Amino acid sequence: MPKHIYELEALELIKNIKEGNLRVYEVVEEFLERIEKVETKINAFITLRDREEILREAKEKDEILRQGQAKGILFGLPIAVKDNISTENIRTTCGSKMLYNYVPPYDATVIKLLKREGAIILGKTNMDEFAMGSSTETSFFGPTRNPWDLSRVPGGSSGGSAAALASGEAPLALGSDTGGSVRAPASFTATVGLKPTYGLVSRYGLIAYANSLEQIGPMGRSVQDTALLLNVIAKYDPNDATSLNVKRPNYLASTYNVNDLHRKVRVALVKEMFEEGVSKDVALIVKNVVNKLVSEGFLVDEISIPIIKYALPAYYIIAMSEASSNLARYDGIRYGFRAKISGDWNEVFSETRKEGFGKEVKRRIIMGTFTLSAGYFDQYYLKALKVRTLIIREFKNAFRKYNILISPTMPTPPFKIGEKIKDPLAMYMSDVETVVANIVGIPAISLPAGFVSDNLPVGIQLMADHLREDLLFSIAAFIEKLTGLRNLIAKI
Ligand code: GLN
Repeated sequence: MPKHIYELEALELIKNIKEGNLRVYEVVEEFLERIEKVETKINAFITLRDREEILREAKEKDEILRQGQAKGILFGLPIAVKDNISTENIRTTCGSKMLYNYVPPYDATVIKLLKREGAIILGKTNMDEFAMGSSTETSFFGPTRNPWDLSRVPGGSSGGSAAALASGEAPLALGSDTGGSVRAPASFTATVGLKPTYGLVSRYGLIAYANSLEQIGPMGRSVQDTALLLNVIAKYDPNDATSLNVKRPNYLASTYNVNDLHRKVRVALVKEMFEEGVSKDVALIVKNVVNKLVSEGFLVDEISIPIIKYALPAYYIIAMSEASSNLARYDGIRYGFRAKISGDWNEVFSETRKEGFGKEVKRRIIMGTFTLSAGYFDQYYLKALKVRTLIIREFKNAFRKYNILISPTMPTPPFKIGEKIKDPLAMYMSDVETVVANIVGIPAISLPAGFVSDNLPVGIQLMADHLREDLLFSIAAFIEKLTGLRNLIAKI
């Protein structure tokens, strides 16, 4: 049976468009129809672009193609973008009431790059408010549902992007990852997501949550699609002071010819990342994948990095401290929501923030203000930074001997909507596996490892040394071949 257009991988769509087998118009139209059909169940998008406008853009692209003028490696491909990435003339809310009406006057660098390569933006995807969360339940626009089981969360905070992929609403998506927000939803939806090396992808136009930790990351339904998208967005950008001015390899090319990797790549499991708080099912599924690697000739060791237990507390202190400073800008004066009261600046400011921010965001601003305050700064923030340095040292040590470190991406399969939202600590604990890559600044990828009770996805996480995305993609492509878990779309 021929596949529906929405079931094709991004690379297949691009090839068919280029070769004239598919018109951009019919591709885009089919995705719009798919969205119309499933979106009421999923709620992956906060804002969809105007249908007519998108179709007009598609028509223009077809005309350019007809004239043989098509340029760009994503030419004609629809894409979904997380709603904390600024898009000129398209509302960008960060999942918050505070920005419910905010329309950015400029494009983030990654958006400029997408447009330059010919992509068509479908809309802006749902997320935890200001990217603070692991389940996409704290959005002002309601939770996103997991396409594999509508009673469960899709992970977060880039849950909308992941759910759009897993339900066939989009072939490719952008997310952001401060402590796991690309990888957690990838794990929970059987899709692929990469958190790049800090500084590889420009953060210009990404609405800040915790600057020292976050990166925009590519998301897809296959390792190759994800690598393709990284090729587009990983560019040096003088507008971002932390952007790395280094040569970037062709990441897609590193997914080819992956057959003699076992001779070159040393792999290790991180012992602690399979233990405390990790469900037995999840650990087993990930270890099964590792066993397959061993059967293929890989030497796989187990290493212990005991300091890893401090990664989660250090992460939350650093992230909340930075958040408390970053979110001070929402004052209701220049843009965004403003409370309907009259009074002096202080009254308007306070009431605006009281009404505009949700509970989790307020909790973090309060805690972050505390950890930065005189008298506690040394005890919390400074100490967390010192712990961060020690963790970086340990990981740098590990990478002297091993190229790839393996763990589960999430400690559990997708949980029920409502299950953890009233217990912030339980929610924070679901980030135990992911935050360490952000603390260290190294790249990490999540891809499907298997399923628990038939339909609940489990992801495997691979971490590599700084700027070794090429290796991650090579091994990930190899694992994807071994598991056969590629281009999965949930039945809805
Ligand atoms: N769940 C983590 C947090 O709430 C990570 C979120 C993210 O990566 N944006 O901080």
